[in-house]
Order: sequence, then C-alpha cells, then structure tokens
Amino acid sequence: MDAAQRTSRDGADVVVDVVVVGAGFAGLYLVHRLRGVGLSVRAVEAGSGVGGTWYWNRYPGARCDVESLEYSYSFDEALQQEWEWTERYAGQPEILRYLDHVADRFDLRRDITFDTRVTAARFDEDTDRWTVRCDTGLGLSARFVVMATGCLSSTNRPDVPGRDTFRGGVHHTGEWPHEGVDLTGQRVGVIGTGSSAIQAIPVIADQAAELVVFQRTANYSVPARNAPLDPEHVGRVKADYAALRAANRRMSAGFGGWNPPPAGGALEADPGDRRRVYTERWERGGFGFLGGYTDLLITPESNDTAAEFVRERIREIVRDPAVAELLSPRQVIGCKRLCLDSGYFETFNRPHVRLVDISGSGIEEITPAGVRAAGEEFELDVIVFATGFDAMTGTLLKIDLQGRDGRTLRDEWAAGPRTYLGLGVPGLPNLFIVTGPGSPSVLTNMVTSIEHHVDWITECLEHLRAIGCTRIEADDRAADAWVAYVNSVADMTLFPTCNSWYLGANVPGKPRVFMPLPGFTAYADRCAAVAASGYEGFVLGPAPAG
Ligand code: FAD
Ligand code: NAP
Repeated sequence: MDAAQRTSRDGADVVVDVVVVGAGFAGLYLVHRLRGVGLSVRAVEAGSGVGGTWYWNRYPGARCDVESLEYSYSFDEALQQEWEWTERYAGQPEILRYLDHVADRFDLRRDITFDTRVTAARFDEDTDRWTVRCDTGLGLSARFVVMATGCLSSTNRPDVPGRDTFRGGVHHTGEWPHEGVDLTGQRVGVIGTGSSAIQAIPVIADQAAELVVFQRTANYSVPARNAPLDPEHVGRVKADYAALRAANRRMSAGFGGWNPPPAGGALEADPGDRRRVYTERWERGGFGFLGGYTDLLITPESNDTAAEFVRERIREIVRDPAVAELLSPRQVIGCKRLCLDSGYFETFNRPHVRLVDISGSGIEEITPAGVRAAGEEFELDVIVFATGFDAMTGTLLKIDLQGRDGRTLRDEWAAGPRTYLGLGVPGLPNLFIVTGPGSPSVLTNMVTSIEHHVDWITECLEHLRAIGCTRIEADDRAADAWVAYVNSVADMTLFPTCNSWYLGANVPGKPRVFMPLPGFTAYADRCAAVAASGYEGFVLGPAPAG
C-alpha cells in the first residue's frame, strides 16, 4: 500500500514522510522532487487547483514581470524545450496553463489534496513527527513539513470605515472572481497604485465608463514592452537553455543573465553616456532598467539619476502637469518593487480617468454609494482593492504552528520573523519554509529561488535519511546571527529607506523588519557551504551511531 494512503499513525488520515503546504510553483516542484528521491509526500492546497499566485490573481492585466523564458522551471530539459511561451511576459491564464501542464506532465495531482486549508500543526517530541490539522477535518502525520505557502498569498484588505456598507461589487486583485468581473460601462474605483494596480488600471480603463484611482504613494514604473515572442530569440535561448539558467543562478536577482550590468557606478559615467544607458534600457523595457549601474540601490545620488530619468518620462507622457507631478514618485527608485506597465501613465490622459491624491488622510470612508476621500464623495459601482498582501509572514502566522517545548511560530515571530537561512525556525524542528523571510525570495526571480530551496531541502532530507537522523532544527544562535546578517546587508542598501511591504510597513501594527535578504548568489553559496559542512547552524538528532 502507498504510504500516502496508510491511515494508522495517531489516527491520522494520511501518513507520509513529508507534508507540503501549498501547490504553487514551490509546492508542485516539491511534490515532484521529494517523490523522486523515494519520499512519500502529500501536498495540501486551499485552492481548488494548482498554481498558487496564478490561481488566485486573475485581475485584468495580470502577468509576470520577469520574462516568461526566465520565469519558468529549469529542472527538466524536456519541459523547458517543449513549452512554448507566446509573450515576452506571459499573462496569468498562460502561466496557469503552464502550471496545470506541469502538474499533468509529472502526474502531481495524485499527491495533492485540494480545497483544504491547513489550520494547525503540532510537533511531537517523542516521535519526531508533525501532526497536521486542516479545516476539512483532515489529519496528517509526517516526519517533515514544508511550508510552500507563498510570500504573497494573504491579501491585505485595509480596515477602512464603512468597508462592508458598499452596495456595489468589492474585489481584491489577489482574490479575483474566477468567472471574471464585467466592468463594461461601470464606474470603478481602484485603491492602490502598486504592481497589481499598475497592471490592472489601463485594462480597466478600457472597459469602465469612469475610473477613479486612489493613490497613497506614487510608484515608479517602466514600460514592460510586452510583445509576442520572436521565434528566433526563443530558438537561440532553447539552443542552450542550460547556459541561461546557469547564468541566472549567478545573478544577484536570479534573472537577467543575458544582460549583465556594466561594471561601474552611475556617478562615474559621463552624464551623456548615462542618459544613453537609461534611454536604451527604457526603450528595451523591463527590470533591466535598474541593472544599468551597479550602485543604483546603494548610493542615493546614483539612485536619483535613475529616479529623475523616470520622472522626466512621466512629465513627457502625462499631459496635465499637475497630474504628472502627482504621479511622480519621490522615494528611492527600487526601494518599493519597481513596476512594469503597459500604458499606465498614458491612461491618466484619458478623459474618463481621474487620479485622487489620498496621501494626506487616506480613504476617509466607504459609503453605500462609493468612496469618500480627499474631502469628496465618489459614486461608484465597483471598488477594486489593489492593496497588496500581508507579505512573507501573514500566511504562515495564520497557521497555529507549535514546535518543541510549546514554542509557537506566533511567539517566536512576535517581534518580527526570525529564521536561519530563511529555511528553518528555531523551536520548530523538521519544518522548512520555501522563500521564507531571511532568504532572497521576493527580491529575486522567484522560480530561481524556489528551485534552489526545493533542491536544498530535498538534499537535506536525503542526508538525514542516509545518516539515520530523524530531527533537524535551526539553532537559536545561528538564527540570531542570521537575522543580524540580513539586517546588516539590507542596511548597506537603500531598501530600508521607504515604507515598503518588504519592511511590513503596509500592514498596520506589523513589526518593521526588513524581511528578504538582498543577493541571491552569496546566499546560495552560503547554503551550499552549510550543507557541505554537515548542516552547520542546525542541530541534528538523534546523534547518528558511530
Ligand atoms: P504561491 O504561488 O503563493 O502558492 C502558495 C499556495 O499555498 C497558494 O495556492 C495558497 O492557496 C496555498 N496556501 C497558503 N496557505 C495555505 C494553508 N494554510 N493551507 C493550504 N494551502 C495554503 N514573482 C516573480 O519572480 N516574477 C513575477 O513576475 C511575479 N509576478 C507576480 C504577480 C503577482 C500578481 C503576484 C501576486 C506575485 C508575483 N510574483 C512574481 C511572486 C509570486 O508569488 C511567485 O513568483 C510564485 O508564484 C510563488 O510561488 P509559491 O508556490 O512559493 O507560492
Ligand atoms: P503593493 O505593491 O503592496 O501595492 C499596494 C498598493 O495599495 C500601494 O499603492 C499601497 O500604497 C496601497 N495601499 C495599501 N494599503 C492602503 C490603504 N489602507 N489605503 C490606501 N492605499 C493603500 O501590492 P501589489 O500591487 O498587489 O503588489 C505586491 C507584490 O506582488 C509586488 O510588489 C510584486 O512583488 C508582486 N506583483 C507582481 C506583479 C507583476 O508585475 N508581475 C503584479 C502584481 C504583484 P502605499 O505604497 O502607500 O503603501
């Protein structure tokens, strides 16, 4: 009988070596990889299908901002050769089709339980196993638990007064109705101007009779220049896909290996050359804009050269100087995640689109008829919350996780997340996090990071099996040192200088801690060194015989 179907241990319905929580990019690869080394695995997914981010975020205009040829799995040569991306940046339906294809191709669904949310898990110190509980009553027993729960999977719905009184439709971009929302001829209000809003606004403007955008902070955006993929370009990439993937694994953001930055800093360049570099990158489109110089996220004056270039473009595009000024961000460029757009700033030239500055007093109230802000009442048919996520920690903290000696994740992280390598949490043995706080995570091409983590975790579990260990736990001192290291690296950059979700600043009351670690390559090297040393910084038990 398959281990996944055994039902004996502690009355659990499912007994496996590893429970994986989530079936997005991370959960799917985990199921495949763990199965491949002979471990029994069961993934539990709250949604009705695979895809994670791409299952939930179905808002108009949703697409990736890392190029499709890079924002995809590299683990299987046949998969990457046979899958045909149609656009430079694939839209949500295409990415979801890809992940569905991956699930079918590797027969992953038979080890995934859908429509089931993990609510709690307890570690039993006598057996070195986790008991996992779900909202459906399902119980699972596993030696290891891997949280593939996603960094951007708990929506942030601000507690605006009167929020539930609105008579029209209310939708969050991160939980968009699967049947779609017909906005034709509607009066639509969008709250927020982050990546989701910047993608959605031009598309919504095409449908809506009136569109009101409520902006708390202006954001930098560069053109995506999305277009159908050129078959010759695809052919060149596929002729040596492994080389691009290897190059990406040596890039600090895990992508862009085909376009490494010039060696110098922005201020070392002659102003004319600098403008040429920015112009070329603006015309090419995409995140490469911030790769123009090596010091853009380190030196404020260098950063300002790029920021001012973008502000100039906004002033060129937006006809009303007052609107252009409102749309011009003042924070460091790249401090909040840079956005990519398809006609975002141009949308504000359209007569039925209005920008409302709520930087002063926010949304004052939601009324039955609409939104009151900036001293005015806006009558609306639909409100779109593009207000982001309780990122990196929100989803994990919703689960009641209790490790050894009664130590809980909620207590451990009361002052902010504390991990070792972003992978392990002291007090919670045999539990791993994929792209957790303290790892490069959201500062990278997430698929590069996910594949790295899944491979590292799998090799770790193989090692434990080989030496007869049933327990691994991040050491308290190693975690303290790691948190200090993450902070020290972040403090060398301009990332902590603005109120970003990287810092938890978007959620009232959330501890302000810079959560991701800048720099994928140094991180990956460190993880490799930890593994090579026999998992230094982790406590393994029981001690292997001999
Ligand atoms: P997710 O895809 O978030 O999957 C986690 C899954 O876990 C979800 O399906 C969720 O339902 C499930 N889950 C969570 N808690 C529980 C529970 N308690 N019980 C059961 N199931 C649970 N990154 C990039 O690198 N490039 C991009 O272009 C990019 N674009 C993005 C666009 C949008 C709109 C968003 C929101 C994010 C984007 N990201 C991008 C980040 C994106 O989240 C990652 O790239 C990637 O999809 C994360 O995969 P994951 O499997 O780690 O997590
Ligand atoms: P986000 O970047 O956090 O943006 C949320 C927006 O809502 C911000 O403009 C924020 O303003 C505003 N907001 C939040 N709370 C508010 C409140 N109480 N009142 C008024 N405004 C409020 O969220 P997101 O746009 O969903 O993007 C999150 C992340 O997901 C991105 O950074 C990116 O990593 C990923 N993503 C990627 C893409 C892509 O292009 N592939 C698309 C979508 C998302 P402040 O800035 O003032 O906080």
